[in-house]
Amino acid sequence: MINCKQATRLMSEELDRPLKWQEKAALSTHNAMCVYCRNYRKHMAFMREAARRFREGVTEQGD
Ligand SMILES: [Zn+2]
Repeated sequence: MINCKQATRLMSEELDRPLKWQEKAALSTHNAMCVYCRNYRKHMAFMREAARRFREGVTEQGD
């Protein structure tokens, strides 16, 4: 069983490389039980989406 530190590390690595199935399984097991890491992941997905939107929208924003 992985701890929160390992789970958050896997979640950030997930953005840079595909996780092994063992890592995915460990992470989803952890997130199923840990509300802190679920929220962390949600927050990270939100931040990533916001950054993407900003990059894509930056050329269209003429005021
Ligand atoms: Zn956790």
